[in-house]
Amino acid sequence: YPIPSGDFGLIGLAVMGQNLILNMADHGFTVVAFNRTVSKVDRFLANEAKGAVIRAPFRDGMLTLSLGKSIIGAHSIQDLCSKLKKPRRIMLLVMAGKPVDDFIESLLPFVEQGDIIIDGGNSHFPDSNRRAKYLAEKGIRFVGTGVSGGEEGARYGPSLMPGGNEEAWPYIKDIFQSIAARSDGEPCCDWVGDEGSGHYVKMVHNGIEYGDMQLICEAYDIMKRGLGMPASEIGDVFAKWNTGVLDSFLIEITRDVLHFNDDDGTPLVEKILDKAGQKGTGKWTAINALDLGMPVTLIGEAVFARCLSAIKDERVRASTILGGPSPSFTGDRQVFIDNLEQALYASKIISYAQGFMLIQNAAKEYRWKLNKPSIALMWRGGCIIRSVFLKDITSAYRKNSDLENLLFDDFFNKAIHHAQNGWRDVVSKGALWGIPTPAFSTALSFYDGYRTRGLPANLLQAQRDYFGAHTFRIKPEYASDNFPEGKDI
Ligand code: NAP
Repeated sequence: YPIPSGDFGLIGLAVMGQNLILNMADHGFTVVAFNRTVSKVDRFLANEAKGAVIRAPFRDGMLTLSLGKSIIGAHSIQDLCSKLKKPRRIMLLVMAGKPVDDFIESLLPFVEQGDIIIDGGNSHFPDSNRRAKYLAEKGIRFVGTGVSGGEEGARYGPSLMPGGNEEAWPYIKDIFQSIAARSDGEPCCDWVGDEGSGHYVKMVHNGIEYGDMQLICEAYDIMKRGLGMPASEIGDVFAKWNTGVLDSFLIEITRDVLHFNDDDGTPLVEKILDKAGQKGTGKWTAINALDLGMPVTLIGEAVFARCLSAIKDERVRASTILGGPSPSFTGDRQVFIDNLEQALYASKIISYAQGFMLIQNAAKEYRWKLNKPSIALMWRGGCIIRSVFLKDITSAYRKNSDLENLLFDDFFNKAIHHAQNGWRDVVSKGALWGIPTPAFSTALSFYDGYRTRGLPANLLQAQRDYFGAHTFRIKPEYASDNFPEGKDI
């Protein structure tokens, strides 16, 4: 029988690759699948990808009708490339790093000018910048795409953030937007921008995810240790919050986690060791923020909070040596819980404002043409940070794509003013009770710093000049012939 022509090639049959293939097949695309360990191709076709096929005589030949999944296996890179329509569209979903470069090299002998290679792994954006340039020199169009939403997202609708060689977009737009999650009827996928910007935006997404998770954990800790609430009651609070401004996937799963009891009736969360892991994308965001000189403090604190949690043995020793206050709550508990909701909301606004500041600055620094309004749109559904809140961010950037800062948008300006008193109450109670709130606190400090006309950096500049002759500048109102405005003194 004639071999059907594949619409799309996918390399990497682990969790993400398999589920994306099934998603593409559900949307009517014929996918050619390949994996380094080739036996996994046949195993996948015989199990997850199995579909009914009818073969019947038709005119002079046979007609093959697939009633199930239109997925074809390939047993080599050459086989994969020979089964694809041109220009070939080939996506890698393999472990980030060297495997991506290795696969690109092994594809090169079998692809042609104009073909498209897409990396859908969690690659670091400088690698995607390098790959975009390297492949452009060979006439191959490279796309680095963020994929978010884990296994479930990949299967039923991820958030997709593609960037790279824009010439590739018309050839992949249809398939990407078909398989992506939808929010209010719009696909959570659009072209992001040049070079590694797709992976950059995914990196910041992951950083924001670190921040959102840390904020939720701080709210949990305040309720647990500050108010002495059991897990199930805290779960009830998250359930209620999930019907308001905080409505989001992460609040929803937190509710479920807190309501989940082990067989002996103990909330499972209380049995889990308090040592957080990390794979590095939050750290990449924080490092990049330092490189670009941008105050993305909340993601930084979220990464450090995981680091602090990881030195558990040392913390256990410190807990017996270092003293502090004990929480004691007096007052109206419901009022305080409402304040906590506002503290979480306000801190979240700051975190996203910082994330967008970083993205805006990266676009300038790396000279990327970025599709800013689409970024929040891509995060509205399918991904881990999906939330109702992102609809408001999308509206803010749609109203004004040159918005200097999210906090200058009327909606967020009003929201943060409304939340302020509760936020300050929570941060001060955390300090008085000895319960750490690094993300709540840094968000509030950022807010107060950002809205301050005169920071104490005047003294800092004087100190720098005193010990290192680093010079300083004079305030315009004190400028004179001896101390001219705008000149280093
Ligand atoms: P993974 O465990 O990251 O990678 C497994 C795949 O990579 C397999 O196909 C494996 O082939 C291949 N591979 C591993 N080492 C290789 C090497 N040295 N050379 C060639 N191929 C190699 O798979 P995953 O969890 O599905 O993730 C795929 C990509 O998506 C990763 O970059 C990941 O970070 C990213 N991602 C994952 C998630 C998630 O929720 N899991 C979400 C978003 C993005 P073999 O079968 O031959 O070992």
